[in-house]
Amino acid sequence: MSGAYVFLGPPASGKGTQAKQLSEKLNIPHVALGDLLRDAVRRGTELGKQAKGFMEKGKLVPDDITISLAKERFSRDDCKGGFIVDGFPRTLKQAEAFEELLKSLGFELGAVIYINISMETAVSRLSGRRSCKRCGAVYHVTFNPSKKGDRCDRCGGELYQRHDDEEDVIKTRFSVYEKETLPLVKHFTSLGKLAEVSGEESVDKVQSAMLSSLKLS
Ligand code: AMP
Repeated sequence: MSGAYVFLGPPASGKGTQAKQLSEKLNIPHVALGDLLRDAVRRGTELGKQAKGFMEKGKLVPDDITISLAKERFSRDDCKGGFIVDGFPRTLKQAEAFEELLKSLGFELGAVIYINISMETAVSRLSGRRSCKRCGAVYHVTFNPSKKGDRCDRCGGELYQRHDDEEDVIKTRFSVYEKETLPLVKHFTSLGKLAEVSGEESVDKVQSAMLSSLKLS
């Protein structure tokens, strides 16, 4: 049976980076719900128009929107051999819908990797984060700057600060995370699926801790 891996953690825990690396190692797609939503907003789709205001304020987009987006994405052919998802599920309602969906598509929940960091670390990472408008690559002005200044090393695209990485929005995202998403840690622990890893270390160290906790190293 094909497996699904979920990454859970506060904003800036590094879940996107780790999910991408695991996706390359296991050779299965990486689905980031935030990226799907940002793409829908950029393209001005009906769903993107509905999501935009919530995202700009740092609030969660309503469950029915994210659930239908996730369903459509996980049902595509490239996910047939399993997939990695970050940023979904983010509420208990999404978790229930996700578990139903896995059953109906014939997937097993491989593991939920919970990357934990302190609020201080998150704020310092987020306020310096810069993203590429064209390819989505992520940099940090101090810890991981682009060699080309305000252009992307990989594709030359323009780097920008996500509106929701500005300080007042970061605070809202954190309180939403604590209220809506943190309860999932307990939920997946009770299912015996949670693998917790500290996200305070370097990318490589977090990765080896994660691989050994998944028994993949
Ligand atoms: P991210 O890139 O994962 O930090 O997500 C950016 C924003 O997209 C979040 O602050 C939410 O507004 C929205 N979003 C992403 N995933 C979800 C989800 N599973 N449920 C609701 N809103 C989401």
